[in-house]
Amino acid sequence: MIELLFIGTGGSVATEERDNTSFLLLSQDTAALIDCPGSVIQKLKKAQIDPRSVHSIIVTHIHPDHIYGLPSLIHSLMLEDCVIEILGSERSVNFCAELLDLFNLRSEKVKCHVNFIPVVPGEDYRISPSLTCAFYKIPHSPSSMAVGFHKIEEGLDLLYSGDTPRFPELLQRVQNIDYLIHDCSAPSRIFEEYPSLYAMHTDSLALGKIAQEAGVKHLVPCHFFGEVDFSIKEIEDEIRENFRGELTIPEDFSRIPLTKKT
Ligand SMILES: [Zn+2]
Ligand SMILES: [Zn+2]
Repeated sequence: MIELLFIGTGGSVATEERDNTSFLLLSQDTAALIDCPGSVIQKLKKAQIDPRSVHSIIVTHIHPDHIYGLPSLIHSLMLEDCVIEILGSERSVNFCAELLDLFNLRSEKVKCHVNFIPVVPGEDYRISPSLTCAFYKIPHSPSSMAVGFHKIEEGLDLLYSGDTPRFPELLQRVQNIDYLIHDCSAPSRIFEEYPSLYAMHTDSLALGKIAQEAGVKHLVPCHFFGEVDFSIKEIEDEIRENFRGELTIPEDFSRIPLTKKT
């Protein structure tokens, strides 16, 4: 059993319906949290997930909309005897350590112990008996990493490329992957209006193209901008201009069961 639980699907500006993008990868032996904005504890409780089941936090990069909830999460767990590993680029994990130090959240009175793991791109990290992950450097910011997960028994592969410009070089390395979760910040007309976005994010037209070229079997777009006006139907239509695989456009609290694709 493995599933995704989105606890946020929006860009850096949250809306009434969508908080900043963050999700959990839930398997029989662990819960891995990918990025840490907002009140994670409240969302986990809403989704009836025990916060103590989170053993790993993957930090994709250190922009505020991806990490500002970390001190609050550790503060909420300060009376729990638990160990959490934070994995990300060296820049990301050092920043997270400094962020916790600002709130004195690595002192002895905090029972929840945090280990920081600066990752080496391309190396495998086992985050539970059933799950490994590997990291890939991507553009967007100096701290940015995409993360791939491998579910050992099923041989299932998933890649998450969080905030990232169009970067087909990454997908060439993971041809025909089962699941791709990817930045899809806005439709192409918004990028045409604000061309500086091309260096930072991916539009829905470009995402459909690169996912189709890479043979992605199931595409899950996210990180939808809240500060510009467009509909999710517009996103879907643009992706479908090129992409013929399975497509799920998540909402906050969407659960997506993952199955190995044939
Ligand atoms: Zn972001
Ligand atoms: Zn960012």
